[in-house]
Amino acid sequence: MSLALLITLFGLRISLATPLTSLQKNIIYEPTASLPVANATKSFWINTPGANILANEGSSGPLTEDADVCIIGSGMTGVSAAYHLAKALEGSETSSLHVKAVVLEAREFCSGATGRNGGHLTPYSFFNYREYERKHGTAEALKSLQLENRTAMAMVSITQEHNLADVVDLVAGGHLTLISSEEEYKSLKAEYLAARRAGLNVGDVEWLSEEHVNSTYGASYSAVKFPAFNFWPLKFVTQLYLLAKSSSPHFSLALHTHTPVTSVTPLSSSRTWRVNTARGPVKCSYVLHATNGYASHLLPQFHGKPGIIPTRGQIVAIRADTAINDSWRASWGGLDHYWFPRPVNGSDSDVKLETENQDHPLILLGGGRQIGGPSFEQFETDDSVLNIALGEELRAFLPETFPRMFKSGKDSEMEWTGIMGFTMMTDPFVGPVVEDLQSGDTGLYDGQYIAAGYSGHGMPRAFSCAEAVASMILAAILDKPWSKPEWLPTRYLTTSRSERNQD
Ligand SMILES: Cc1cc2nc3c(=O)[nH]c(=O)nc-3n(C[C@H](O)[C@H](O)[C@H](O)COP(=O)(O)OP(=O)(O)OC[C@H]3O[C@@H](n4cnc5c(N)ncnc54)[C@H](O)[C@@H]3O)c2cc1C
Repeated sequence: MSLALLITLFGLRISLATPLTSLQKNIIYEPTASLPVANATKSFWINTPGANILANEGSSGPLTEDADVCIIGSGMTGVSAAYHLAKALEGSETSSLHVKAVVLEAREFCSGATGRNGGHLTPYSFFNYREYERKHGTAEALKSLQLENRTAMAMVSITQEHNLADVVDLVAGGHLTLISSEEEYKSLKAEYLAARRAGLNVGDVEWLSEEHVNSTYGASYSAVKFPAFNFWPLKFVTQLYLLAKSSSPHFSLALHTHTPVTSVTPLSSSRTWRVNTARGPVKCSYVLHATNGYASHLLPQFHGKPGIIPTRGQIVAIRADTAINDSWRASWGGLDHYWFPRPVNGSDSDVKLETENQDHPLILLGGGRQIGGPSFEQFETDDSVLNIALGEELRAFLPETFPRMFKSGKDSEMEWTGIMGFTMMTDPFVGPVVEDLQSGDTGLYDGQYIAAGYSGHGMPRAFSCAEAVASMILAAILDKPWSKPEWLPTRYLTTSRSERNQD
């Protein structure tokens, strides 16, 4: 169970019996990541007409030449960092300050994992608890799970505060995990009980019998249900960008899409870094690498197993064969897959996809990565291609699992791939860029930061990790010591991370 379960739930299938480390022993070739490739597959989130209003923002005309902060990457991490900088600058302490930030994006706005993922915002309240505790101690185990709830609730509260729930299609439908065997049930139950004993809030967890799941949802499995959300990640990030841009008179923000960063080199002027792009250089004092699976392209020390492993995931969008009842509106996981029905009256309902059955929801489904072969789609940065066998496996899954609702042999309406950033610990790297991952020595990278490597589970973590790095950058700007927020697990920090307990 344990970390493998987390991996499994996001479709990054690895058998529960097979630890990540032994899988990776099969991998011979561990190159640094490429830049994001051209001609990426088209995703529902990005390519639904009208969805990506910032797609080509700042891609022509003059490039910003100078900024305090350069953020590389316009996904959930990069844009959340800009948002947190803007919010922090609303405060009176910084009223004499003006911070200029620029987001540099290789392709269209938000065209990495955030624009190609499964759309689940699933904070775990107990999954993996025992593993976290065994490896990292009780305090870290508690923080690991509390951070997910903190993140999800902060994102939900922004959507509520700004009346964005309909814009980003936020659905508070909970998450149902189908349980494949008695062994898995016992293990999940043990996680739950351990988390409850440790004081985590698991009050809203419901255990559903096979009979109940079959009669209510049409699948012959028992399940566990807990609070969670699904949403349109790209639209959320778009709104976050617009809020960041307008939040504070002490913060200015620019975005340059189609501007791949090719290297970051030192400067000996008032600005310490020169961020070199295909369109020219940008001078800045602080650099945030929000490049996730692509991080090792600019930071080769993050390549290979100890660093951030680019890993390709695949999603299909398939129309259900029947209308669904409200109870089905949850997001779902288990059996090595994850899926959820898009709201039939969602923000894309006026867009013609293949909508002969408007009340039949479009199901977005991912997982099944074991089909990708022994490499489990690791060390892959090419999201311009589909894995044909994986697509077949995904399309077969729903008819097999819910035979009353899905007919077999049906084509997907859309199908795409995206690149995740995995780490051996499945925890992200957050903090100053280190020259040496083992020692945590920052060496010559002073002023560069990173938040990346969410291991396929970024929606309930990236927004908070970005907050942590934004607070580090602001402390550096103000020349003040940074103190770690109480909610951030210590082991996420690049400077105190330990890969000792990774298996
Ligand atoms: C198929 C798939 C399904 C997933 N499903 C879920 C899910 O349902 N729930 C969940 O919690 N997580 C899921 N994830 C993981 C989640 O999407 C990520 O953890 C999260 O989006 C990471 O956000 P990010 O901003 O750090 O990275 P990204 O969104 O990947 O953003 C990084 C950006 O950096 C840009 N970039 C990279 N290098 C450069 C460069 N040199 N110059 C300029 N720009 C550059 C990229 O183009 C990209 O836009 C999934 C991921 C995939 C791929």
